[in-house]
Amino acid sequence: MGKIYIIDVTNRDGVQTAKLGLSKLGKTMINIYLNEMGVYQSEFGFPTTRHESHYLQANLKLAEMGVLQPIRLGGWIRATAEDVEKAYKMVPNIKHLQLSISTSDQMITGKFKGVRSRQDILITTAEAIDAAKSHGAGSIGVNAEDASRTDADFLIRFASVAKEHGADRFRYCDTLGYDNPFTIYNTCKLLVEEVGIPIETHCHGDLGMAVANSVAGAKGIIDGGQDAYINTTINGIGERAGNADLVAVVLALKKSKGLAPKYKLGMPIRLSMAWRICKYASYAFDVPIPINQPGVGANAFAHASGIHADGVLKDPQTYELYDFKELGRGEPEMVETGREICSGEYSGISGFGHVMGKMEISFEHRDDAEKILELARYANVLAQKPLVADELRFIAKYPDIARELLTLTPP
Ligand SMILES: [Zn+2]
Repeated sequence: MGKIYIIDVTNRDGVQTAKLGLSKLGKTMINIYLNEMGVYQSEFGFPTTRHESHYLQANLKLAEMGVLQPIRLGGWIRATAEDVEKAYKMVPNIKHLQLSISTSDQMITGKFKGVRSRQDILITTAEAIDAAKSHGAGSIGVNAEDASRTDADFLIRFASVAKEHGADRFRYCDTLGYDNPFTIYNTCKLLVEEVGIPIETHCHGDLGMAVANSVAGAKGIIDGGQDAYINTTINGIGERAGNADLVAVVLALKKSKGLAPKYKLGMPIRLSMAWRICKYASYAFDVPIPINQPGVGANAFAHASGIHADGVLKDPQTYELYDFKELGRGEPEMVETGREICSGEYSGISGFGHVMGKMEISFEHRDDAEKILELARYANVLAQKPLVADELRFIAKYPDIARELLTLTPP
């Protein structure tokens, strides 16, 4: 029986979303939280993008140091041999790659304008996989962009070529959120049966079905006899209407009717991290969590009407499917209501000492404090908002890594 693994794409699909973004320190914190949560892989960025280079290499160092372990860090590039070469030139230690190319007729005519045929797509993809293999890539996923609008015969051919050349996984991208649970189940099951390769689902919410489609696709993949990998983002942040929400996907897998006994996660996910990771992503992206968001919304465990309140007071399970404590909720949170000293890009040593002191971090020498303060200032320049305690702790603990993350050198 195949198992289900989570590949979170917040640091790729999330950050490429219009009007949104994260600082390099913010992306690093997301990787750290995802690792603590037990997520299989973080799609941590773009190896062929210049301003990502220091961040990507610093995070690979964190992996070597054991800080980002056991999570895998995967880079996203276009499926061309040229991009593979560029990726290894810019980020030589990159281990895991996702190679992406469009497969639908809409994309071939609408985007490639006839310059590339279906045959070209197969050849280009095969060359890209061969190039990644020759660099010793630890794992290779091959993404079919707009797979849901690609006819099944060509998808089977495409996935077969990927498998023959040594790809580890095939990513079925419902790029426009066009699928429904019934269609994605059938297509994923067919692909697995015809090609025999583990499949990732990559679902978007344009029709409000990203989570349902991810779960249905995973079911099809497992029923077809392979492992399933679900792409998620924290709080569902992603292009247009967003991606499949990480916490909602895990809740659906664990709590929905009849699913959990048969369709199991391959790695335990610590749902107790949900509150922390969702709150952090909301702050870092500057996007509030909707009041009715599954699990972490302000109303997810709120009851007012007479019958509901009475029922939940007598027995919470009457009106709650799962306990708020499972999601790491319930602890009181300190909110400053009076004077506040926070970090900023023009902070001085006195205010900084006060902020760090509240977190019980002290420095033996003033020089050490000044060094960390300087890094915190740079982090503030990039974040343009006060740093949270975990970010300051990270900078104090890994100053050399922080310096690398914060280094942006335009050409
Ligand atoms: Zn996407």
